[in-house]
Amino acid sequence: MLYKRSSQLFAEAEKVIPGGVNSPVRAFKAVGGTPIFVKSAKGAYLYDEDGNKLIDYINSWGPMVLGHAYQPVVDAVIEKAKLGTSFGMPTELETEIAALAVSMVPNIDKIRFVNSGTEACMSAIRLARGFTKRDKIIKFAGCYHGHSDSFLIQAGSGAVTFGSPNSPGVTQGTAKDTLLAKYNDLENVKTLVEANKGEIAAIIIEAVAGNMGCIVPKEGFLQGLRDLCTENGILLIFDEVMTGFRLARGGVQELYGIDADIVTFGKVIGGGLPVGAFAAREEIMNYLAPLGPVYQAGTLSGNPLAMAAGLAMLKALDSDREIFTRLEEKTAYLEAGIHRVLKANNVVFTINRVGSMISVHFDADPVTDFQTAAKGDNETFKKFFHGLLQEGVYIAPSAYETWFITDALTYEDLDFTINAIDKVSKTF
Ligand code: PMP
Repeated sequence: MLYKRSSQLFAEAEKVIPGGVNSPVRAFKAVGGTPIFVKSAKGAYLYDEDGNKLIDYINSWGPMVLGHAYQPVVDAVIEKAKLGTSFGMPTELETEIAALAVSMVPNIDKIRFVNSGTEACMSAIRLARGFTKRDKIIKFAGCYHGHSDSFLIQAGSGAVTFGSPNSPGVTQGTAKDTLLAKYNDLENVKTLVEANKGEIAAIIIEAVAGNMGCIVPKEGFLQGLRDLCTENGILLIFDEVMTGFRLARGGVQELYGIDADIVTFGKVIGGGLPVGAFAAREEIMNYLAPLGPVYQAGTLSGNPLAMAAGLAMLKALDSDREIFTRLEEKTAYLEAGIHRVLKANNVVFTINRVGSMISVHFDADPVTDFQTAAKGDNETFKKFFHGLLQEGVYIAPSAYETWFITDALTYEDLDFTINAIDKVSKTF
């Protein structure tokens, strides 16, 4: 496949946008080459500016759980836009989506909408700090919670791809309040809690991690965190920006039956429009302005177009209880196919998967945390990525990202993908 026009467009973009992109991981820096410029997308497919059709395994980094340009979402946005695009005043729609989200997710009484996952996580820790009157938080190496200062401490995703887990511009003062723990290592977290007794406001975690590839929480790890938090008056924050409304109707809390104190959302909850949200039980949420002392706000928060898209998406997920089963079955089929062809071609690999999140690591050992994820062979990944792109299959341009499976994928698409992987892995 040719990507000539995309390359030209990238060269033009580079003149007026830093690195040619509005979010770093789009730039193909980890894999080399120039990014694909998208013209349109429908269902499981992307159509680029060169006229190529690609099967999409990024799906806007997660939101498109039902495929691109999902008709009820598109219709809802068009109808709402005709009535005005932003008011900065309350609308009935906001209550409708809030009530639906609260009914779908365990342990939450109230939810507040923001404009991105970053804002959701940033606000969640401010709320946790205000509520507990403590300053420190614990995050896990390789987990990404957006680009607010407190989280750019060994973050995953693009922050890892670019080799700058600790970004300049984050002050020492901020960094000292973020304690780093090792994913899947409960003893390590216990030691940190012990050493900072009474000082930790929250532990924030991607309960199924997706920003160092997909990392599965070990048996007992999340429950161990829950118990540790309860014993020490620490709030447990599940960052469900990727997993919310994707791994189950009620996210990881429902999937594993573990209760979080605060949950953050992004991606699916906005149906592809810029939406994030954070939610908790009433006692915690009432600590927010205008009821409580913790300030948090947004001119475009609860924007009518974004809320219309989100509501259409959540209604679809709420009304068809088989969606999550279908996603599981499709992704399991893909996993089995990838396993079969990589093995047949003598490739060294490990596949991690939970529901519709899956990642292929080019390493033989189990991938359970940031350290083991970083061990993967990036040269093989580059060949894998570019080979698949030539075959018309688009996966994230970094080994640290999970693939997101959409219900719009057919079994023919999955077979096409498995065959493409077979072909590409013969060239390693
Ligand atoms: N948390 C997680 C788990 C994420 O994956 C992301 C984004 N990939 C974020 C937070 C930040 O969301 P956003 O990019 O919408 O700010």
